[in-house]
Amino acid sequence: MAKVLIVTGGSRGIGAATARLAAAAGYTVCVNYRNDHDAAAQVVASLHAMGVSANSFQADVSVEEDVVRMFEHVDSSLGRVDALVNNAGILGKQCRVEEMDAERVARTLSINVVGAFVCCREAVRRMSTRYGGMGGAIVNVSSRAAQLGSPGEYVDYAASKAALDTLTIGLAKEVAADGIRVNAVAAGIIYTDIHTSGGEPGRVDRLKGTIPMQRGGTADEVASAILWLLSDGASYTTGTVLHVSGGR
Ligand code: NAP
Repeated sequence: MAKVLIVTGGSRGIGAATARLAAAAGYTVCVNYRNDHDAAAQVVASLHAMGVSANSFQADVSVEEDVVRMFEHVDSSLGRVDALVNNAGILGKQCRVEEMDAERVARTLSINVVGAFVCCREAVRRMSTRYGGMGGAIVNVSSRAAQLGSPGEYVDYAASKAALDTLTIGLAKEVAADGIRVNAVAAGIIYTDIHTSGGEPGRVDRLKGTIPMQRGGTADEVASAILWLLSDGASYTTGTVLHVSGGR
């Protein structure tokens, strides 16, 4: 039977690439999104064209009731979840810490960190052998920003990704004996729309010379690492943060 995967923020960028690669690998996929229904519908149509079962679900991962509803929807429409990719994430407009208000920082942490925690909770309750589950795999989409700190751009975002790394390490230890693996990818500078939302559409090209490989990455290159971490090929790998960043 096909494994069931939820990709948060699966309508665009790295999430959409992950959904497509997962479908190609035979997963049944729920594509979560927050606003852009048409983009999510296009991804689902492309998954159906590959002959897999898939649907989309609108849920803001920072809203606990939304996340609970999403997992219940997947239970009833696609089956018990086997895999979760916590990919939904945002960043605010580039600025320095002294210019940030509390609302912006809280919003970043609420989506990037609290959302991932609540999604992990719902996934563990279904996957864990402790509750009669069959095990599973979780991948959190983190960032090189966790180590670099993103000065002058979004230190709040960088801090949220450091929290995600720590969630990965702690949860992996908590559930390792219950059949669940928890890993993260630390993406480098990847060509997606997220840089436009930070106020600099050309950010990847401005910074690519600082990357050892001298180029930005693609969403497919990150998705490929995510799919490996979800797969049985990574059966002895948990609690790790895999850097997908063209060198460190
Ligand atoms: P993106 O192109 O901006 O796409 C973001 C996706 O997340 C969209 O599908 C969006 O859905 C969804 N989303 C945003 N807020 C959400 C919420 N509250 N609830 C549910 N879904 C939500 O971003 P991306 O570059 O692919 O980034 C994906 C992940 O990779 C993020 O966690 C990001 O931090 C991480 N990352 C990206 C880079 C990079 O260079 N691109 C580097 C390191 C890490 P809607 O369109 O419906 O709002």
